[in-house]
Amino acid sequence: MIKLKGIAASQGISIGRAYLTSERAYCVIKRNIDENQIRKEINRFKKAIFNTEVAFKRQKNKIALEMGKKYAHLWDAYMLILRDPLLYKDTIKIIVDEKINVEYALQMVIDKITKIFSMLDDEYMRDRVRDVQDVGNKIMGDLLGQGRVSLKDLQSRMIVVAHTLHPSEIVEMKKENMIGLVTDVGGRTSHIVIMAESIEIPAVVGLKNITKEVSPGDLLIIDGNSGIVYINPEPEVIRDYRRKKREFESIRKKLIELKDEPPVTKCGIEIDIAVNIESSDEAYAVRQYGASGIGLYRTEYLYLNRDNLPTEEEVYASIKDVIREVSSNSVIIRTVDLGADKISNQLGIEPERNSFMGLRGIRLCLSYPGLFKTQLRAILRASREGNVSLMYPMISVVKEIISANHILSEVKDELENEGIEFNRDMPIGVMIETPAAALDVEHIADEVDFLSIGTNDLIQYILAVDRISETVSYLYNPADISILKLINHVISGGNKSKKWVSMCGEMASDTLYTELLLGMGLRKFSMSGIAIPKVKQIIRNTNIDRSRELVEKVLAEHETSKIIELLKVSRDSLLENT
Ligand code: PEP
Ligand code: MG
Repeated sequence: MIKLKGIAASQGISIGRAYLTSERAYCVIKRNIDENQIRKEINRFKKAIFNTEVAFKRQKNKIALEMGKKYAHLWDAYMLILRDPLLYKDTIKIIVDEKINVEYALQMVIDKITKIFSMLDDEYMRDRVRDVQDVGNKIMGDLLGQGRVSLKDLQSRMIVVAHTLHPSEIVEMKKENMIGLVTDVGGRTSHIVIMAESIEIPAVVGLKNITKEVSPGDLLIIDGNSGIVYINPEPEVIRDYRRKKREFESIRKKLIELKDEPPVTKCGIEIDIAVNIESSDEAYAVRQYGASGIGLYRTEYLYLNRDNLPTEEEVYASIKDVIREVSSNSVIIRTVDLGADKISNQLGIEPERNSFMGLRGIRLCLSYPGLFKTQLRAILRASREGNVSLMYPMISVVKEIISANHILSEVKDELENEGIEFNRDMPIGVMIETPAAALDVEHIADEVDFLSIGTNDLIQYILAVDRISETVSYLYNPADISILKLINHVISGGNKSKKWVSMCGEMASDTLYTELLLGMGLRKFSMSGIAIPKVKQIIRNTNIDRSRELVEKVLAEHETSKIIELLKVSRDSLLENT
């Protein structure tokens, strides 16, 4: 039995068999193929070899020009490895003999070569292992770019064990087959965690080496409440966790029964709780958890893992599906937030060194007006069929809102000329996710109808801590005084401007902050459905006067541990009253 501790990311307990995607950053899954697909897989391999060779030649010339010819020899060695029969012929042989997909065959060959080279006495040869792995990774990168092998091959209900997963991979798998998720890397607010929460499965991330510790089919217990993972647990641990799982699920069920109780504070103030969704088929959560509507529809998943960009009709149809599900309840559609960890293959954008600070969200939309306009047309068309609002992500400066609104009004004119109806007064909002937007909230508010605080990004940008990195996750803390001061500033700035303010980042679903946020003046929350009952329970016990006192006490502190203590004591005392 092995016990590991990672970051508790999505709540719940799962007991099941391990489905290991890959021990590397790639998601390589074994897929059996038919006889008639063998040629196709070999051709994909040859194409990847060709593309990698072209890329190596280009790199070699560049290095030769910039640093001199002697530094370019490494690429000659790489090109020799590419065509080495040990790699080239063996991969093809495995595809043919074992009838499996090229990615898996290549991975097997790289593993074999790595093993042989590592056993050699010759130090020089041992060092060549890294070259082989480098070359293998480059070919794999090209193959995965051609069409990633995905979790859709997951055939039975299992716990997925991965180095990391890209949001695009989760999108296309059969969600009901994933009963838990554990990863080597990742932080509490990475998008895979948010998706795990949406599909209501437990997740533990940042386990560093779990892909090395686990073998396919191992029995795992994952405890998404504490971040503990057991590999091949003893029978008494299994018994203990079966009991804990039953208890957890029964508490959750009781809380869900609160669904028809309104989110009104003890002193009678009505609060709005909406849900965040990633795809139209999650819209049922509004009904299931008694939410007011959809506070954040992350539309980018429609753009991932496909060969072409979605058409206007497709985007329109997906919004219509959501509207049909929620009827007259409100739906806030966020314009596509591509970039950072959500890369669309079709735009041909070179990977950026610092993608979270690069061409992302509204920046990308303003650079690709064609893509932006197609989405805006679809949203506007849908706007007359439901209670639809639109929201721009990743705003840094007022000018971006003005530019986006300019494109929006062009699209409105186009639709009008074509005689297509839409809601001219559709509310427009922005996400407050950058310190720049947060600090300048009043000018930002002048341009829009509403604001929604995206704490997942806001925290990473304020503290300069990558939200998907487990190595610096100790710094990623909503209770840091810098975060709380800025959030307080945004809420009061928005309220002063008479624009409604919501929070749709993960902080909104953490009960530790509910009373504090109410005290700061927040009246709208949006979160994954599963988190609603607990937050509602706190809201129903909160007295706004008392919550204002809590804000005063907290903002007078500067030590995070003391702040957390204040928040915990206050929350526990609220819960005692239930
Ligand atoms: C956020 O940043 O808080 C947010 C809700 O957006 P996302 O998690 O999609 O970046
Ligand atoms: Mg964000």
